[in-house]
Amino acid sequence: MSATFAVTNPATGSELQAVPDAGPADARAAIDRAVQAFAPWKARTAFDRANVLQAWRGLMLRDEEIIARLMTQEMGKPIAESRGEVRYAAAFVEWFAEEGKRAYGEIIPSHVAGKRLLAMRQPVGPVYAVTPWNFPAAMVTRKVAPALAAGCTVVLKPAEQSPLTALHLEALWQQAGGPADAFQVLTTSDPAGVSEPFFADARVRKLTFTGSTEVGKRLYAEAARTMKRVSLELGGHAPFLVFADADVPAAVLQVMASKFRNAGQTCVCANRIYVHASIHDEFSARLADAVRALRVGDPLRDDTQVGPLVDRAGLDKVTAHVADAVAKGARVVVGGGPRDGLYFEPTVLADVTDGMRILKEETFGPVAPVVMFRDDAEVVAAANATPYGLAAYLWTRDLGRGFRVAEALDYGIVGVNDGLPSTPHAPFGGVKDSGIGREGGKWGLEEYLDVKYISIALP
Ligand code: NAD
Repeated sequence: MSATFAVTNPATGSELQAVPDAGPADARAAIDRAVQAFAPWKARTAFDRANVLQAWRGLMLRDEEIIARLMTQEMGKPIAESRGEVRYAAAFVEWFAEEGKRAYGEIIPSHVAGKRLLAMRQPVGPVYAVTPWNFPAAMVTRKVAPALAAGCTVVLKPAEQSPLTALHLEALWQQAGGPADAFQVLTTSDPAGVSEPFFADARVRKLTFTGSTEVGKRLYAEAARTMKRVSLELGGHAPFLVFADADVPAAVLQVMASKFRNAGQTCVCANRIYVHASIHDEFSARLADAVRALRVGDPLRDDTQVGPLVDRAGLDKVTAHVADAVAKGARVVVGGGPRDGLYFEPTVLADVTDGMRILKEETFGPVAPVVMFRDDAEVVAAANATPYGLAAYLWTRDLGRGFRVAEALDYGIVGVNDGLPSTPHAPFGGVKDSGIGREGGKWGLEEYLDVKYISIALP
């Protein structure tokens, strides 16, 4: 592979490094290697695989600062968050290394005396993994660790904006003693061209994808050609409901963490903030003060809280959402526009109403739109009135209301008085247009295991 493409730093616009630009022939070669490596990797015990995974985790933690800097430079995440992401990514490896030992089977009571019925779990086979740029380490390990722990081999295609972190993780895998062909990274500027051989090849048994709903739907259709199993972690449009009895300062703190982390470029970040009329003004004033205090700047500085957006397309979308809202009557309380380069000012919008794009689409930027509501049933209906169903949040001191609303929300994840529910041992994933399947916890391992039923008639 001699062709390369450049990775650029969104904070400075400068070129960071050239990486291999894989094409379809490289993809076919990687598939052959992943298929060859599958039988020996599957044959190793889960305990043996866990040892390799734990060594990999140790090297990730050793290289925390190196990986964090790579990540910040290639996609603009503030360095303090990048360090946190390396630890989060390593925690997935730790969890799945151990969980791989618990891929239990079952013995089913038989309907006849002379039979024994068994269900066992086996790895699905070689896996094709496609990941986005917004969590360049954690989205990789959340897929690759359970796949490897289950006994699958993986070819990973990272996003073209953030291949450097993935390449470093691949190098550490080999340093940890992992077979080179069990986990391969293919970097490319042509995701569709490189993906085609995977969809055409029936030996690749699984597609696991994290990214936009639009691309996810396309790949779901492609995967049907060779009847692959799929896991799809897609876009979100999270509502954040603040009820009249909420702890307002706590809710503001959590909305700040949920909304402005990664400059608002997360699939679970609060995208629509519905606040009850009785506390609306207090909430909005506190939120505006907190947003004004955010430190925007060079993401390599330890104290930076908001960095640039990842690219021009991202910045243009955020700018268009704010312009559309303002044209339709929203009021800018703080921020409101782009700054130099790829930066967008942390923004609070008030008087946001239905019909604005920002209440329909994922914004993926540091903009907090606040909507006033009066009726609990109406706000739950508004929260559900979207094709998306990834994460939702609600704030209340009333346990009964907390349960009732959590159960009524059509979402895969609900945070009750909790703006940051994600953790490696809990199920993460969406319903409706937000995807299929779960990552994390025992559910994350199941995605890489097939159930085999064995019926034994005793002689
Ligand atoms: P994207 O869909 O543009 O790209 C995601 C990946 O798909 C990248 O690796 C890209 O190269 C690849 N890709 C794009 N077109 C392709 C094609 N035709 N064939 C094969 N691969 C293709 O998304 P993005 O901009 O990188 O990421 C942002 C999106 O990801 C947001 O919508 C966000 O909500 C979502 N996301 C979801 C989760 C989740 O867990 N649900 C987590 C993080 C991000």
